[in-house]
Amino acid sequence: MQTRERRTFLLQVIAGTTALTTQVPALAADGPRPTVAVKESDAYPKSMGFRLKTEDVDKAKYPRHDVKQRCSECQLYSGEKGEEQGPCSFFKRLVPPDGWCRNFKPRKAAA
Ligand code: SF4
Repeated sequence: MQTRERRTFLLQVIAGTTALTTQVPALAADGPRPTVAVKESDAYPKSMGFRLKTEDVDKAKYPRHDVKQRCSECQLYSGEKGEEQGPCSFFKRLVPPDGWCRNFKPRKAAA
């Protein structure tokens, strides 16, 4: 192999390796769809004020909560419209579209 071909080959290997390593976190973040639903009674969701229905959130405890805030409007929810439950990337479990927790992050308005 000529020096120039060898250099080109090595640069292609480095570029390929870099592309692979930068894609791994993205693949890991997507992961498989969770199959277990969040329960209000589980310790961590409970500590996050999680409720299956946003209307049931304790207003005294979470005065900034608004009933317009719901999982289906949260950046961390990836359920499809019409589904009974969808994945929440925060809990890594399924949540109902009408649920809520204090980690609610409103979706960005479409530009
Ligand atoms: S992080 Fe968002 S999608 Fe997950 S439970 Fe809380 S409000 Fe719902």
